[in-house]
Amino acid sequence: MYRYFLGMLILVWQAGWAIAEPFKIEQISGSLYRFVDDRHRSVFLVTPQGVVVTDPMNQKAATWLKKEIQTRFHLPVKYVIYSHNHADHIYGAEVFKEAHTVFIAHHLARQDIVSTKTKTVVPEVTFQDQMSLFLGEHEVQLRYHGPNDGRGSISMLFVKEETLFVVDWALVGRMPWKKLWSYDIVGTINSTHEVLQLDFKHFVGGHADIGTKPKLRRYFNYLQALHHAVVLGIQKGQTLEAMQKEIRLDEFKDFRQYEAWLPLNIEGVYERLIEESGMGWRPDLKTN
Ligand SMILES: [Zn+2]
Repeated sequence: MYRYFLGMLILVWQAGWAIAEPFKIEQISGSLYRFVDDRHRSVFLVTPQGVVVTDPMNQKAATWLKKEIQTRFHLPVKYVIYSHNHADHIYGAEVFKEAHTVFIAHHLARQDIVSTKTKTVVPEVTFQDQMSLFLGEHEVQLRYHGPNDGRGSISMLFVKEETLFVVDWALVGRMPWKKLWSYDIVGTINSTHEVLQLDFKHFVGGHADIGTKPKLRRYFNYLQALHHAVVLGIQKGQTLEAMQKEIRLDEFKDFRQYEAWLPLNIEGVYERLIEESGMGWRPDLKTN
């Protein structure tokens, strides 16, 4: 009996410990790791030439990550790369600010950080279309694919590790976020199509799961199917409510939140088509 209670006590203590610590580090491939902070994810690359950190997320997460990198690898952080301008991904960068650390972002992300007085480290190196970082035998390729979600949102390809990292506009294992609030839908479809041409085996999203290229292709197929279904509904003169009742994309019902977020995804695409694509003002269409 005593042993049983002791066992229970240890279990409760362990569970409590797990709840108190929302951060996690997982190895993806070789020297590349995924850093998880509750709903947010980033990656970091460990090389003898130094560590490449991507989104620092927030001060608490960045402080934890910096300490883990120091104690596990004993290497300095050489680069910090921002995926885009959104504060929930790039706050806390000041934790990594040292004389030997260079902060990198797309020039549109930097412009937004400066003009909106975002409270994070202003990147000192920017690029327009593409740039590469070389650390010994490792190469990190950064690419801009046009508008998709946020400002200056890029893809990061870790060549040797065959891993692609994209934040917000591409993910696997789950539906895209509710009403796709700040998505440029067609831009997101185009950007995802572009990254699918790259050479990688592993995909890490800034949210949701680690996946493979076929899984990312399914996400792309879903976005296309969703967009197509809503365009068709508008052309038929259907109301948003009718579309939310009728449109089913059950081929993708294994995506988490499929039932709950499909009507919201439909609403997001509908609003974007009516307002931004101007389908709401088309004389040949009957829109409500
Ligand atoms: Zn996000």
